Amino acid sequence: MPEFVISDASPIEHNGPLPDAADVVVVGGGVIGVCTALFLARKGLRVVLVEKGRIAGEQSSRNWGWIRQQGRDPDELPIMVEAARLWRELAQQSGEDIGLVQGGLTYMVKNAKQMEKYVDWLPHAQANGVDSRLLNRAELAELMPGATRDWHGGLYTPSDMRAEPWVAVPALARLAVRDGATLIERCAARGIERSAGQVSAVVTEAGRIATSQVVVAGGAWSSLFLRNAGVSVPQLSVRATVVAVDAGPMPFIGGGADDDIAFRARADGGYSLAGGAFLEFFIGPDAFRALGKFRTQLMKDPFGTRYYPMAPKGYPDAWGTPRRWALDAVSPFEGQRVLNPKPNARQVDALVRQFGALFPDVGKVTAKRAWAGMIDAMPDLVPVVDRAADVQGVTIATGMSGHGFGIGPAIGRIVADMVTGDKIRHDLTRFRFSRFRDGSKMRLGPVI
Ligand SMILES: Cc1cc2nc3c(=O)[nH]c(=O)nc-3n(C[C@H](O)[C@H](O)[C@H](O)COP(=O)(O)OP(=O)(O)OC[C@H]3O[C@@H](n4cnc5c(N)ncnc54)[C@H](O)[C@@H]3O)c2cc1C
Repeated sequence: MPEFVISDASPIEHNGPLPDAADVVVVGGGVIGVCTALFLARKGLRVVLVEKGRIAGEQSSRNWGWIRQQGRDPDELPIMVEAARLWRELAQQSGEDIGLVQGGLTYMVKNAKQMEKYVDWLPHAQANGVDSRLLNRAELAELMPGATRDWHGGLYTPSDMRAEPWVAVPALARLAVRDGATLIERCAARGIERSAGQVSAVVTEAGRIATSQVVVAGGAWSSLFLRNAGVSVPQLSVRATVVAVDAGPMPFIGGGADDDIAFRARADGGYSLAGGAFLEFFIGPDAFRALGKFRTQLMKDPFGTRYYPMAPKGYPDAWGTPRRWALDAVSPFEGQRVLNPKPNARQVDALVRQFGALFPDVGKVTAKRAWAGMIDAMPDLVPVVDRAADVQGVTIATGMSGHGFGIGPAIGRIVADMVTGDKIRHDLTRFRFSRFRDGSKMRLGPVI
């Protein structure tokens, strides 16, 4: 079992030969690509998923593991309710222990003003049959006994779950293989070949796969990949740090977050901690290109993110990363098998201290391992799940904006139906690709 995150040092599990042809090629082996491949295989299609590094090597093993309905964008909520059901089904079908626990999730607030947004959100939960409820000071103190912070109150969703992402997504990948999908790790897709405006093949570093359909689920790399294919997606990435700690037990077994800290209990008895909304951004050429589209987000919380003048070498938006390459030449994806950002050490120390001070009853808090991930975000903080209008045969499922793990199974089911033209059963208007260029007013989704 991987120790918290998957990296280039993790063993390759899926390395079969590259098929010459497929009905659909999925680019990217995160939770979105894996679930898409799974549901496409269940439709009886020949699906090949190519992953440049390891299945779940990037965001999909590095996230907090929250499977949350709470606080979701209203247009995502019905999809998330389906995802929660799918998680239970898929966990059972996988036959593996993915650490799926219904521990509930709580957002804690300092004052009545902060509470207002949850009061406004609650009707959406009720309309979708989600059991979220507001907690007053006393109820919150009862839910989290021993907490030293005197929160004003909170929002609590008992039915929200968690899973151990570094175990869960590889388990779903094995389920996809069992159901007929072909997965190939350490195999970068370099680009798309077209014939008369229609996809005719995906070119990988190991050869060409003839196909008329490609699903781009490349996480933080999607925009770079699509740009080389002539499709422009305003997507940027931010670094988020996590630390896994060992500590004694506490009565609340779920997840919680306020402005300063987010925590959740882990399957091994410890906790995973992160800064509630602490994000770091490396400025690169895409940032300038997409600045106009991200202005609304920037203005809403101008100091919420820390900025650095350049990304480390080889990152999707590093200054030196090539933006164009020929399909018979090495692509940027082959130079960065698993994007494995350094965690912010000061943030890690601060989190360990804060958690110990917040819950003194857990005793000594020791950092076990810290890591970071690059979160791919869209200007309005909700994903793109749509066909690309410019190239026939391209479907885009990206920009999950920090909350794609929980919703992943339902997005995979939806994308599979989108590819085959079957009924989707959700309104996807909010997630259309054209919203960034059809003059639509920017409507920001919730941050967490
Ligand atoms: C620290 C952190 C905490 C988070 N917490 C939560 C949470 O609690 N709950 C939640 O729901 N979400 C959370 N998220 C967000 C969630 O992890 C992501 O939204 C989700 O994992 C995105 O999945 P994905 O498949 O789109 O992308 P990824 O998991 O990033 O996968 C994309 C994959 O595509 C591959 N790839 C890219 N380009 C190519 C190419 N050309 N050829 C082949 N392969 C390619 C990459 O190597 C990568 O493995 C968190 C994220 C982070 C980083």
